[in-house]
Amino acid sequence: MSSRSNAIKEENPYENAIAQLASVMQVIDVPLDYYEMLKVPKREIVVYLHLKRSDGTVSSFMGYRVQHNNARGPYKGGLRYSSLVDINEVRALAMLMTWKTALVDIPFGGAKGGINVDPSSTSGDELEVLTRKFVDEITYNIGPEIDVPAPDVGTNPQVMAWIMNEYSRLKGYNVPAVVTGKPVELGGSLGRLEATGRGVSIIAREAAKAVLKKDIKDVTVAVQGFGNVGSYTVKFLTEMGAKVVAVSDVYGGKLFKNGIDSFERLYKDYSATKSMKRLPYGEDISNEELLTMDVDMLIPAAIENQINENNANKISAEVIVEAANAPTTPMADKILEKNGIKVLPDILVNSGGVIVSYFEWVQNLEREQWTLEEVNTKLEQKLTKAFYDILQFSESKNVPYRVGALALAVERVVNAMKLLGWR
Ligand code: GLU
Repeated sequence: MSSRSNAIKEENPYENAIAQLASVMQVIDVPLDYYEMLKVPKREIVVYLHLKRSDGTVSSFMGYRVQHNNARGPYKGGLRYSSLVDINEVRALAMLMTWKTALVDIPFGGAKGGINVDPSSTSGDELEVLTRKFVDEITYNIGPEIDVPAPDVGTNPQVMAWIMNEYSRLKGYNVPAVVTGKPVELGGSLGRLEATGRGVSIIAREAAKAVLKKDIKDVTVAVQGFGNVGSYTVKFLTEMGAKVVAVSDVYGGKLFKNGIDSFERLYKDYSATKSMKRLPYGEDISNEELLTMDVDMLIPAAIENQINENNANKISAEVIVEAANAPTTPMADKILEKNGIKVLPDILVNSGGVIVSYFEWVQNLEREQWTLEEVNTKLEQKLTKAFYDILQFSESKNVPYRVGALALAVERVVNAMKLLGWR
């Protein structure tokens, strides 16, 4: 939900993802040929989508699906609609999905897709047409056993419903498991919509305990971004009693010195103004001020490269909980490490979404529906296990949590590749 104005222009998310992969090679023993294979995706699909506007003119949009690795199971990952989408962003995010699914040990690989379109300046009908055209172009490259898309920035359950319908229409029968994050009425899992934010709050609670040695109720938090992930994160954290003192969206933020008193009121008012800045209460604050403010915990929940070499030295939080994908650049990581700031990495923190996507896929294949309680209990178990595995591994190797988490994930993927005989 934040602009790339905070980021450095020439920052290439794909190069950053490769740099992160390279950083784990010193920690685990991976033959160089596997590193070479993992640096690049297995398949990249680029399509041009043409849309006839109501005034008769035609606009073209570029669509991407990058399939990074499927050694551990079908490709899995979100679909992003944003004017910032490009091939390098999608490549980076596809690679992150491979690590994420391996880290939380679900039987999927990693992929990502996107259309370079600004959903706020495109009508619902136009988005539906674009979505269906995109599915028509990639029909043979997706499917319950091939590649399973899901929501990401700029997409939602409605978009997933169109994907399911278009794919099913082409197949001639109903295929709910082709996509996750669907509306519950169409086979979506209970708890999927809020799963990423719920997962972030679970990790924040455990990080408070294990890293800050505090109860979450005694922790001050700033959250950048108020989309699906940011808003649910704020909701669950305030319910846990954390003191959320600052929130923001793409246009700017608000400071609440004593913490948000009612999430419901904030959410209702925000739904009306669609802008933090326009809320009639709270003190105005910029995204940059939010990122560098003096809090115990900083949660970037917007887009990549927000914490970079320009502002990393000014970060005052003790711990960063990465709810967004790739919010911290490798250069910033080095600065934060030097300054003793701990970073809980994206591939752990925001994995609640894909974990419940996995639950949804299983329910669809088995034609079952689990209760919300069952979903949430299983989510909590998977996440806390991954959290303490990473803590233990990173501390035993004396490496930052990101390196530890990536090492655990890469090791699993390489092991699968070896067993399959990939060379
Ligand atoms: N887009 C989400 C992510 O980045 C969810 C992916 C999924 O559920 O497949 O993790």
